[in-house]
Order: sequence, then C-alpha cells, then structure tokens
Amino acid sequence: MEMDKNALIVRALKKCFPQKADMDLGNPEDSLLATIFSARTTDVQVLKMFPGFRKKFPDWKKLAAADVRDIEKSINTIGLYRNKAKSAKALAQKILKDFGGKVPRNMDELVTLPGVGRKTASCILAVCFNVPAVAVDTHVFRIAHRLGWSKGKTPEKVEEDIKKIVPEKLWGDVNRTMVRFGREICVGGKKPKCWMCPVAKWCAFKPKTPKPEK
Ligand code: SF4
Repeated sequence: MEMDKNALIVRALKKCFPQKADMDLGNPEDSLLATIFSARTTDVQVLKMFPGFRKKFPDWKKLAAADVRDIEKSINTIGLYRNKAKSAKALAQKILKDFGGKVPRNMDELVTLPGVGRKTASCILAVCFNVPAVAVDTHVFRIAHRLGWSKGKTPEKVEEDIKKIVPEKLWGDVNRTMVRFGREICVGGKKPKCWMCPVAKWCAFKPKTPKPEK
C-alpha cells in the first residue's frame, strides 16, 4: 500500500515535470562532464559555457592531453573551475586507460572516476543508461524528509530508504522530477508552497503552508 502511494507521488510529479534532466545532453560523455561541472554552480552557467568547452576539447584524447590551464580558461565562468578542470583531465585519462574510452555503466566503476561521487553516478546511470538509480541531491534529500519517506541523516541513507519504498521502475524519475519540483514548489527554507502542490494529499509535512493572502 505504501509502495502504491509512493508510486502515485512519483507519477504525479512526472506529469507535472515531464522535462528531461538539465544535464541530459544526449550522450554519456557530455552528460557526465556537464554533471561534474554542475556541482555548486547553476545549470544555466554550465549550459552556457559547455559548447565552447566541447569545441576546444571534443573527445577524451584531447581532454586527457590538454594543459590544465587551458581547460581552466574554457570553464572559468563556473564555480570551482580549477578543481573541475583537474578532474576533467584526470577523468579523460582514466576513461581512456581503464575503460577503453567508454563511460562505464555501473555504480562500482563510475565512482572510481575522478570527480564522480554516488550522486553523479546515479544521475548518469538513470539518465544515460536507463539503469534504476536514485540520485540524492539537496532537493531529493529535503523532499524525501518532508514526504515522510526518510529520516536519514546522510544522502546514502536517504537513497537506501527511497529504494525500499518506491518501485524500482520509478527510481530514475525521482531526481529528475524532484529537482524541478524542489525549485518551483517544495522549495527550501521554512515555507514550501504546499497550497499549489500536486502531491500534498500524500505528504506527511505539517503544517502545510496556506496560500498567502493578497
Ligand atoms: S505538501 Fe508541501 S511539504 Fe509536502 S511535498 Fe508538497 S510542497 Fe512539499
């Protein structure tokens, strides 16, 4: 029963937020690099600089052989660009050396890549390879607590809890839909916009925020 209710929640969010993930750039290479670059910076900033960056470094070989300072120059409009430039070069080198130039398709191998943690790996598995995975970012973490899905104190625990109570075929939709839902409706801070929430009737959060008076 609980599983049914949670499936209804994810399905309702899918209906409201049908768009693809912002960092889904149509292939695993671009999506992986863009997802790594998107840490602690806005998606808009990443999407703006990404075409120029790829023009300069169109494949793993060019990226692996590049001078880190040149990579830095092409991504210096985003946050933490120095670390990310180092990671991008090391990532290209490792993918060429250990994975024959292909982005690996499983969690264990993905998390061995420089700059790739469990959250990024889950995004890539779900978005690029259709492998069931739940990426717990700040939005998923917050919303899972409000919905009553988890009391976990770490992203790993929240991921574990979500996987127990949401049907596997919907795991890949959790992050994609909740990022937008979390930006627009179940926003951070003390006052989520419960009055306009499509899943309010299934949500454990109390008291619900009423519609502000004009
Ligand atoms: S009812 Fe409010 S707290 Fe619950 S999911 Fe909707 S917006 Fe978030």
